Amino acid sequence: MVCSSTQGPTVEFEHRDVVLLCSNDYLGLADHPALRQSLAHASAEHGPGAAASRLISGTHEIHRKAERRLATLTRMPAALLFSSGYAANVGVLSSLPREGDVIFSDALNHASIIDGCRLSKARVIVYPHGDVDALSRSLQRERSKASAAYVVTDALFSMDGDLAPLVALRELATRFDAALLVDEAHSVGVLGPDGAGACASVGVVPDLLVGTLGKAMGLWGAFVASTPAVLDLLENTARSFVFSTATSPAASATCVTACDLVRDADTARAQLLRNAARLREGLRSRGWDVPASDAQIVPVVLGPAELTMQISAALLELGFFVQGIRPPTVAEGTSRLRLAPMATHDDDVIDSTLAAFASVEHMRPG
Ligand SMILES: *Cc1c(COP(=O)(O)O)cnc(C)c1O
Repeated sequence: MVCSSTQGPTVEFEHRDVVLLCSNDYLGLADHPALRQSLAHASAEHGPGAAASRLISGTHEIHRKAERRLATLTRMPAALLFSSGYAANVGVLSSLPREGDVIFSDALNHASIIDGCRLSKARVIVYPHGDVDALSRSLQRERSKASAAYVVTDALFSMDGDLAPLVALRELATRFDAALLVDEAHSVGVLGPDGAGACASVGVVPDLLVGTLGKAMGLWGAFVASTPAVLDLLENTARSFVFSTATSPAASATCVTACDLVRDADTARAQLLRNAARLREGLRSRGWDVPASDAQIVPVVLGPAELTMQISAALLELGFFVQGIRPPTVAEGTSRLRLAPMATHDDDVIDSTLAAFASVEHMRPG
């Protein structure tokens, strides 16, 4: 499966023009002319490679600048760049929570959080997805047995499209003296004032915020935002940070441009969310199983994996690229098409997508 370009509402995929509905490039920045130009200029000015890990000689002024801008974007005190969101979660969870601590983790958290928990010496308690009452009971029972506690959640769950109950989680974490870590991979740039994220959209300040540059920001790489003291600790103990080459200075300079584009993308954000609402409403009214949400990810749950791939293939035949999502990414029997409209789509694109779904309706499970 090879995509040759992501520009505009259609992309060339296996030599055909198709509507792209399964990327994380929500705002259309991955192929934005300003980012292309920025990366080219940044490469000339700052060089492509950092030449060392951050603690040896790989910290460039531009890394610090990008970190200040990411902190401003997410309205957090400070930020630290990581090479990817995967590395950020694994680094945070394997270094901050120590033996004798406890991590409370949502059952549907991203694989990188699960792997970080596996690497941690802390005890891990998985609570049912989004279940504040179950988490509260668990905290009541288990919190006092541990030294430090962490509550860890995705902000916007990427395969279900729903938002974590952030206000209630913040309240519980504070009440039980636990740190709240929120992974905003799918919400930075999309939700909140100036794209600050889901936490900012509901006035929640997490203790740690993980964001990736590879989704709405159109680049690659990631960051952790927190207080300078916490980041100082991470900088010296998160093994995925310490023992990894610093992110590209050119990419970090481009990240500064991406921060500007994201901050100024109110119109794109409104269009994106309008597209998602139109798509979700249209599909639900035609009887497709689409969970309710106000965010930009629109999953169509079908069940059997093979059928999901068949409907995906039929849609591709019609010119709509909607990848099927199967186990182990989602639970057995809940295979789905995960639709992610883009800000570069308009009503016509959404309506033609709905028409394509109508023409494969006969394939839908009873
Ligand atoms: C994509 C994603 C990551 C990983 O980010 P990368 O920068 O792609 O490694 C982490 N957490 C969540 C919730 C994600 O969706």
